Amino acid sequence: MQSFYEAKQADLEAALLEALTPDEPWSLLERFTSLVRESSSADEREAFDYIAGRLEVLGIPHEMHMPELFLSVPVRASLAVGSQSYRAKTPAFSISTPPAGVSGEMARIEGFAAGRSADFFDFTPVTEVDVRGKIVVVDGFGGPPPVWYFQNQGAIGAIFINPGVDIHWGICTTIWGAPDLDNYQRQPNIPVLSINRPDGEDLMQRMADGQTQATLHTQLKEGWFECPCLVAEIKGAIEPERFVLVHGHVDSWDVGIGDNAVGNATLLELARIFHSQADNLARTLRVAWWSGHSTGRYGASTWYADKFGLDLARDCVAQMNIDSPGCRWATEYRGVTIMSEAHDFAKQTVLDATGLGFTGERPHQAGDYSFNNIGISSLFMLLSSMPLSKAEEMGYYAVGGCGANIAWHTENDTLEIADKDHLMRDLRVYAASLQRLLNNPLHPYDFRALTAEFAATLADYAAAARDDVDFSPATSALADLNGALDELYAAAGGLADGAVADAGVRAFNDALLAMARELVLINFTRQGRFRTEPAMRVPQLPDLAPALELANADAHMRRVTRTHLVRGVNRVAWAFETAANIARAALEKINT
Ligand SMILES: [Zn+2]
Repeated sequence: MQSFYEAKQADLEAALLEALTPDEPWSLLERFTSLVRESSSADEREAFDYIAGRLEVLGIPHEMHMPELFLSVPVRASLAVGSQSYRAKTPAFSISTPPAGVSGEMARIEGFAAGRSADFFDFTPVTEVDVRGKIVVVDGFGGPPPVWYFQNQGAIGAIFINPGVDIHWGICTTIWGAPDLDNYQRQPNIPVLSINRPDGEDLMQRMADGQTQATLHTQLKEGWFECPCLVAEIKGAIEPERFVLVHGHVDSWDVGIGDNAVGNATLLELARIFHSQADNLARTLRVAWWSGHSTGRYGASTWYADKFGLDLARDCVAQMNIDSPGCRWATEYRGVTIMSEAHDFAKQTVLDATGLGFTGERPHQAGDYSFNNIGISSLFMLLSSMPLSKAEEMGYYAVGGCGANIAWHTENDTLEIADKDHLMRDLRVYAASLQRLLNNPLHPYDFRALTAEFAATLADYAAAARDDVDFSPATSALADLNGALDELYAAAGGLADGAVADAGVRAFNDALLAMARELVLINFTRQGRFRTEPAMRVPQLPDLAPALELANADAHMRRVTRTHLVRGVNRVAWAFETAANIARAALEKINT
């Protein structure tokens, strides 16, 4: 597979990397240090206008869409316990409290893993406390999984104690992008706020001293707002309809330099260098800057996936998300978000572009990954991060961006969080990856890495289900798919040095995209094509993951779960069978 991953246009790649300079990116960062890019605000509009203005000057074709996004923008929050009042922030999509606030008895929840778990996006309750009619006091960040959990347990409010001296902004709804009829009911219906660790310690001391009542005040601005959505397009010369989408969010908490002005700067520099080589690009590059990421749960990227869904389904080769690159002390490519079929390609490209190692991680249900329900192979989200030893030395806890700097989602995310050298190094990774996706004859995806993962996942689930559910339709369809893939990749070996316009190359690439539409869908979604998933953890082959719960289910739930799994096996097996048919049809074309 090596020959699929290396640059076939080595001179072009060298010229692109040579063309990278910090001038354009750093000017953007300096401009953005005074823009608080809250979605739908004047500052955000100014940031978008700045980027559009630079595209104009550079002569890069672009379009400013103005979609209506459903947002919830925090305005203010406070917490009162007895005579003590605490500084607080409320996450987007908390409810606004009435003028008198929401008062009630507090319930301390011990041992919850939110925000301290190995998986930042996960939430695992480890103790059962009756929280009905109470305000929970819990460690961590007020993200969607815990808020959803406590709301369903009957809590009337939630206080999250953040791990450090700063309070992090966030968003607590599980609804992905604008709500539809399938999910609008999931909007949070309790007030939520966060306080810092020292105040949390004080609060818990008061609780220990017998203080039981708390009053939460939260105010948010919620509704449908017109927001900018900027998309530049650099047309390819050979397959202009086929495109790679590279994207990142412009809106920020406060001035958000590490999250995500650095990403905006990166996108602008990529647009600049690829435009300068537009005549030499085989396929089209689309560069998108989003709004509504932080207060609309990926509002604009989801709008784009809706509005251009068919277009994306037909012709999108890859989506690459750029969030928080080039940050302070971020010297490692560790646990980088990557889909399995693209893992080895990313590893090779990082090595070629930087000389550094790479480890990947299954994409979390987060971060403008708004294209899984179309079935698009995906690369990156966060990229470089600081070594664990550095985080430990600094006493840092896990956060969701800024190269693991805890300035993430706080007022401290200022220019000092960006690092020019790291930004230039990360730019090389993006530029080399995009160059190969745009110009290599064969798309650099190895779906056998994904089917190997599926085999392991199925074995785990089947073992957990024991003989209760028949997984054999899925396992035999997978074995057949593996056989078809082996033949397809063997036949494609001779095409790696072919031309983009070759019929065989096109047949192979068409097959990879069509297989992604099935296999990404089955591995990351339950809701079906063109729908959205809740912002909750999605396990591998999620239709079958309830197998892990079967042994603990009572007699009724065991039958319910079994029924669910039988349907899930059908869904998964059918996807495997469809993918095998796609591979065989391509093989026939390649061999004629
Ligand atoms: Zn971000």
